[in-house]
Amino acid sequence: NEEAEIQEQAEKIFVSVRLRPLNDKERAGNGISDWECINNDTIVFNNSLPERAMFPASYTFDKVFDCDCRTSQVYEEGAKDIALSVLNGVNSSIFAYGQTSSGKTYTMKGITDYAVADIYDYIERHQEREFLVKFSAMEIYNEAVRDLLSSDSTPLRLLDDPERGTVVERLTEETVRDKEHLQELLAICEDQRQIGETALNETSSRSHQILRLAIESSARDYAGAENSSILAASVNFVDLAGSERASQTLSAGARLKEGCHINRSLLTLGTVIRKLSKGRNSHVPYRDSKLTRILQNALGGNARTAIICTMSPDRIHVEQSRNTLSFACCAK
Ligand code: ADP
Ligand code: MG
Repeated sequence: NEEAEIQEQAEKIFVSVRLRPLNDKERAGNGISDWECINNDTIVFNNSLPERAMFPASYTFDKVFDCDCRTSQVYEEGAKDIALSVLNGVNSSIFAYGQTSSGKTYTMKGITDYAVADIYDYIERHQEREFLVKFSAMEIYNEAVRDLLSSDSTPLRLLDDPERGTVVERLTEETVRDKEHLQELLAICEDQRQIGETALNETSSRSHQILRLAIESSARDYAGAENSSILAASVNFVDLAGSERASQTLSAGARLKEGCHINRSLLTLGTVIRKLSKGRNSHVPYRDSKLTRILQNALGGNARTAIICTMSPDRIHVEQSRNTLSFACCAK
């Protein structure tokens, strides 16, 4: 029964929208928000200026989180079930999508911390099983994959493994001893990413970060045949490049060119998600980008996916906010 339920939900991508509060700078500059969340699932554009009349006035998703929602609520209602499905042997991905400074990193950091706490809580409560947890972390910048657990910044190659699918060659996979060890590893990744940010201008708006937990478990007592099966899956926490890197194409259908500001991985992810949300009968172009190749087993099929679309409230960002909502609509 539970299996059937997982199967059914696997077909659907859970899409939520999070509106961040106006920050001090926006407030000081007379920032105004035209957005209002209603009924927990609908966000409304409240502006009667005539030039805004062509905008749809309201958008409905699986969930919307207003600017006063805490990350704990976003986690509980928008990511928890999907992240924890890794403990049932189901692959999953949680994405933060949105323009630069809309709150992706803020949101994903919190979601990752809450998920780690819940995963270790579960492991402690299930002494009858033995768990093996492995952690890896990577960044994709300009279609080059870098190991966030290594100081060596040489790009890593992707290989096709007949059993495991796409594998990142020589990626560090740390066996995690306990929760504290995992928190240390997460802190290392954050430092690595910050080093990259100062070295290369705008890195965080251009790069994707994937934090991956691979969890395997088996029953300690082999006599109890019922739960002796081995379960293995991964959960991916993905902080995407700023969506302004894809918006040009979303609005104008411009051609994808190497070296221009459009981000191939972000664009391909959009296409993959649109195809998946429309059903299974069309070709899904996983192989067109590094991001979608790496995440192929954690998207579509039996995998579960959550996308949290983050939005800046300020009126000056209305075009980008609208693009983000269009993306979110396509994913549903
Ligand atoms: P992004 O990763 O999308 O570029 P950030 O997560 O770095 O954006 O957020 C931009 C700024 O806004 C940061 O200073 C962050 O702390 C703040 N911020 C983002 N979301 C929230 C929120 N929900 N509540 C309070 N501050 C937020
Ligand atoms: Mg960020």
